[in-house]
Amino acid sequence: MRYISTRGEAPALNFTETALAGLATDGGLYLPETYPQLHASTIAGLAGRTYAEAAETIIAPFVGDAIPRKNLSEMIADAYSAFRHPAVTPLAQLSDNLFLLELFHGPTLAFKDVAMQLLGRLMNYALKAHGKRATVVGATSGDTGAAAIEAFRGLDQVDVFILYPHGRVSDVQRRQMTTVADSNIHAIALEGTFDDAQAILKGLFRDARFRDDVGLTGVNSINWARVVAQIVYYFTSAVALGAPHRPVSFTVPTGNFGDILAGYVAKKMGLPVERLVIATNENDILARTLATGRYEVRGVKATQSPSMDIQVSSNFERLLFDAYGRDGGAIRSLMARLDQARAFDIEAGPLAAIRADFDAASVSEQETAVEIARVYKASEYILDPHSAVGVAAGFRALAKHAHTPMIVAGTAHPAKFPDAIRAATGVHPALPPHLADILERKERFDVVANDIGAVEKFIRARARALTAA
Ligand SMILES: *Cc1c(COP(=O)(O)O)cnc(C)c1O
Repeated sequence: MRYISTRGEAPALNFTETALAGLATDGGLYLPETYPQLHASTIAGLAGRTYAEAAETIIAPFVGDAIPRKNLSEMIADAYSAFRHPAVTPLAQLSDNLFLLELFHGPTLAFKDVAMQLLGRLMNYALKAHGKRATVVGATSGDTGAAAIEAFRGLDQVDVFILYPHGRVSDVQRRQMTTVADSNIHAIALEGTFDDAQAILKGLFRDARFRDDVGLTGVNSINWARVVAQIVYYFTSAVALGAPHRPVSFTVPTGNFGDILAGYVAKKMGLPVERLVIATNENDILARTLATGRYEVRGVKATQSPSMDIQVSSNFERLLFDAYGRDGGAIRSLMARLDQARAFDIEAGPLAAIRADFDAASVSEQETAVEIARVYKASEYILDPHSAVGVAAGFRALAKHAHTPMIVAGTAHPAKFPDAIRAATGVHPALPPHLADILERKERFDVVANDIGAVEKFIRARARALTAA
């Protein structure tokens, strides 16, 4: 299996090279040359298998011969043994025909664990095979940093440095990053904001000498291996509700478009999916784009669902590439317009192609709180604010397609957002047992000045990729 860039000017890579590269050298994102096809009998055969067995069937065609099957199988089994539910991603029924796919049973209580737990193992394996070490640097406003730290802790080939804004993340979020004892993990409290952290991260990637010296790599949601790991639960949940013999629809709380893109790829592989509904909070760039054809960046609003508070949905570029008939030149000109004018218009043909698979709905702050309260009252089920955005949009879509089961991605555990839950329901959601003592654990972090030179110096002094060279 070969991977090509959405901007058409980077070399084709195999699966492990793509996972280590993250972004393509032409600024584009990698996609497989063709989508592997799963026969209806193969999909039907997923019923009754464990999550790890299903994952192996679905992921193996993307890996091709880049990793021996035995090693892939071990990494998958190991990654999903860390989840607290035997089904890994179980379904909860919220109404006659609406189901919540609980993606938050991993170590950090958010859906990012599902992909990150596998990505850490894949990267470590690929680096070992090449006799290399790498340095992962990330900037986080909370969730991604914790998921990356949990996934990479204790791995020999990788050091992880996570920049978070000092004093500006919640206690639980900070402690998920600072209470990990492994020596390859470094939590950096930056004396600045999240935007400062992100600007420093971009600067580090632009510094070619630093990048090469430390083997710099990223694990953000544009990494193709993360998308692949997310395809699995679209298949397992659909099969649990009768696929491939009957179709299902999905609604996905969306930020960077990584999760719902995985649902689109599942459909391309042969899963019968009727509608894919993009659910956004008040940061509604994608809902506006589907309604008008104009992709236009506006300011970010802070909401109760912070992991969806973004201006640019990076993975949308992958969908555009397909919608434009895989024309890299067309994507280059759209992205150039985005850089210059903060907006571009999608042509009629590609827009119709997108609308053939996707719907979109934006859910206000008020509607989110009402949905948390309504579902709690109806069934005592506590939704986190991200999942609540999805459920509100999912019920709206279900009204139009009532005959097809609607599966909503439940992307975080409510205990991660206790203030929003208490405001909507009066209930304080408890942390699961493995995190119950997190407020008493010993913390370890370094405060570093809001200055790229200071951050580089800190990383150079600790990155093993450098000391080994
Ligand atoms: C990251 C995240 C999302 C958005 O997922 P994308 O793949 O970026 O669209 C939604 N909910 C939660 C809780 C998240 O952490």
